[in-house]
Amino acid sequence: MTTIRLHNTRTRRKEVFTPLDAAHVRMYVCGPTVYDRAHLGNARPVVVFDVLNRLLRHVYGEDHVTYVRNFTDVDDKINAEAQRRRAAGAAGSLEDLIRGRTDETIAWYHADMDALGARRPDFEPRATEYIGPMVAMIERLVAGGHAYAAEGHVLFRVRSYAAYGALSGRSVDDMIAGARIEVAPFKEDPMDFVLWKPSDAETPGWASPWGRGRPGWHIECSAMARELLGDSFDIHGGGIDLAFPHHENEIAQSACAHPQGDFAKVWMHNEMLLVEGKKMSKSLGNFFTVRDLLDQGVPGEVIRFVLLSTHYRKPMDWTRDKSLEAERTLLSFARVIVDHEATEVDQNVLDAVSDDLNTSQALTCLQALAKNNQGGVLRASLEFLGFDLSRQTKSITEMRVSESGWTNTYLGITPRTEKQNALIQSALEHLNRLRLAKDFVAADAFKARLAEAGVSVRFQKHGAPNWNVEDHFDPAKLEALT
Ligand code: AMP
Ligand code: ZN
Repeated sequence: MTTIRLHNTRTRRKEVFTPLDAAHVRMYVCGPTVYDRAHLGNARPVVVFDVLNRLLRHVYGEDHVTYVRNFTDVDDKINAEAQRRRAAGAAGSLEDLIRGRTDETIAWYHADMDALGARRPDFEPRATEYIGPMVAMIERLVAGGHAYAAEGHVLFRVRSYAAYGALSGRSVDDMIAGARIEVAPFKEDPMDFVLWKPSDAETPGWASPWGRGRPGWHIECSAMARELLGDSFDIHGGGIDLAFPHHENEIAQSACAHPQGDFAKVWMHNEMLLVEGKKMSKSLGNFFTVRDLLDQGVPGEVIRFVLLSTHYRKPMDWTRDKSLEAERTLLSFARVIVDHEATEVDQNVLDAVSDDLNTSQALTCLQALAKNNQGGVLRASLEFLGFDLSRQTKSITEMRVSESGWTNTYLGITPRTEKQNALIQSALEHLNRLRLAKDFVAADAFKARLAEAGVSVRFQKHGAPNWNVEDHFDPAKLEALT
């Protein structure tokens, strides 16, 4: 059996992965707070843990893995958006507006992450559907002396859990010194964090032993993970920004409420994504969503390729150059696999991914397969890594069946849409007709105008002509030509 090695944040080492139960491997990944479209950074954990999910299923069997990723659908940002909508005259109760917003955001999230080739997890629990288990867990914590009620809040007593800070390797006193901690008069200790908070009439709330209120963020994951995966499970993942305090708090809650279990055995964290070398931020103007990129015509598989080209434990930089390069690479792969059925996943690809998800190495292995024309293995390996190149292979086949005689030409950058693809094709056919009619003056003029629209054509002494869609491709100019 393939040996999988994973870096465990808790031990700060790469360890051989041994599941608690090889017949049932269990993984939990912190999902999004659903108040708006996912930005590109949010896509990084989705794609990284999708690769891990695929690897686990490949090794342990399709039906022997349970992958859970939650939706946080109770949050002050969601409330604020619902209140804003109501103030703008939207009909319905606040609860309806909140549900409307979260349903809409979840549908966007699914569409965007599907486009990146990420398989949906086995369970996608919504926090609001697990309030009962959260309340039960908080009650256990209060009963065990690990939490206390104060002014409608319930707080976790951090000093009651000696191992607090073990995941991030910091002592409580270091954390107090370094963190921005809300000091509230009802807290026994500044480090204590909220398990439950009171809701007013303008905020969603549920009945509880401490009055009408809503859960804190951290308890959501502890309760949902336990309900769906049990007291002990194999892997817990998320972005490195969540290691402290979110994951530290999850561990404290779960360990104190259910000391018979170990909660998660392996903790994995992806590093952050930057854009053109800078932290993504609205003020820097380099903030964009996955949907923005898809709408600009960057195919989902290209985004996936770029995300996987940097190891998940290194900060990664999104650049436009990388996405253009990825597009060319994927197209070159498509040419190799177009006439092949998938055979077997390449062992080198499998070894790379098994070595703490070395996806950049795996992508390098794909290049070698392409170079050696191993179409069947390349196709199987691409599928294993979650790449669906049917869009690229389709445009290659479409070009072949064209009657223009432009077979075996090079597609260059993938034509953006089918309509644009058709436009390019008819322009090339027109150019071909002019040349067949030996009207070289008109052909040259047409070729120059094509180049202006971003389609460059090069005739060769032998063989089929070469053509390419350049960066400045302008479908409107092309349309005007035909
Ligand atoms: P949030 O909805 O902000 O809780 O984030 C959802 C997931 O995206 C979490 O696992 C975060 O760690 C992750 N995440 C947020 N921003 C970035 C970023 N810039 N790069 C990588 N991961 C991120
Ligand atoms: Zn979480």
